[in-house]
Amino acid sequence: DCLLSRGLGDVYKRQMNRAQTADETGKVLLELRGVKRDYNQGETIISVLSDAHLQIRGGELTALVGPSGSGKSTLLNIAGLLERPTDGEVIIAGHPTSALGNRRRGKLRGSHIGFVFQFHRLLPEFSAVENVMVPQMLNGLARDEAEDRAEALLAMVGLQDRQSHRPGRLSGGEQQRVAIARAVANAPRVLLADEPTGNLDPETADDVFSHLRAIIRGTGAAALIVTHNEKLAQTMDRCLAIEDGQIVER
Ligand code: ADP
Ligand code: MG
Repeated sequence: DCLLSRGLGDVYKRQMNRAQTADETGKVLLELRGVKRDYNQGETIISVLSDAHLQIRGGELTALVGPSGSGKSTLLNIAGLLERPTDGEVIIAGHPTSALGNRRRGKLRGSHIGFVFQFHRLLPEFSAVENVMVPQMLNGLARDEAEDRAEALLAMVGLQDRQSHRPGRLSGGEQQRVAIARAVANAPRVLLADEPTGNLDPETADDVFSHLRAIIRGTGAAALIVTHNEKLAQTMDRCLAIEDGQIVER
């Protein structure tokens, strides 16, 4: 227990370094301005987002709810620089992104954005600790330091005994906890999660979600989390939905 909290403290300190020097808590870290997204579906064009505006501050935990097909995943993929909007601007920690080429968008995504998917999307051939090391090494960290951080992060989500397991040998809840550790490995300023507990039974969902919440609070990231779980949504600071292609407070 003592070892665990020591690991926690170390990781938080390192994780928080960048946030502390810039004092980003309370600053707008994720901003969408007039975001529009159309899709071509055969002959017709459907407008999923028509004029979406959004500001999320560091340390703010925001739920995104609403019926299937309302555009939640589209919004998250655009905010996470996985997809480009048809029009409008996405600003990550003060960096406008629409004029950036794919390489610079990819770099910004790697250093500033953490993403948790409904299905973990861990690399099946790699161990838990290696899965958490990979994004750090892609971001330029030395192997030893990446490994130290990965081990501490896995301990933070209660997986100190599962470090060398491959995803296939972990339970669904454990897989998602590895995915959470991976998502925050580079101390992202923006944390996005698309139904991160949608695939889990209610009890496991609560457990995974409390890890996610603690980690977000610890890193001071701006968080936007899609959930169908009203109970979880109510534990967050704000609740948003998409109506007629616009983002509304709920
Ligand atoms: P949600 O996550 O809220 O269920 P999505 O963002 O996945 O909603 O989808 C919103 C709408 O956009 C749906 O009508 C869906 O069919 C459509 N859509 C999403 N992605 C694509 C795509 N790549 N091509 C065409 N239509 C899409
Ligand atoms: Mg979706």
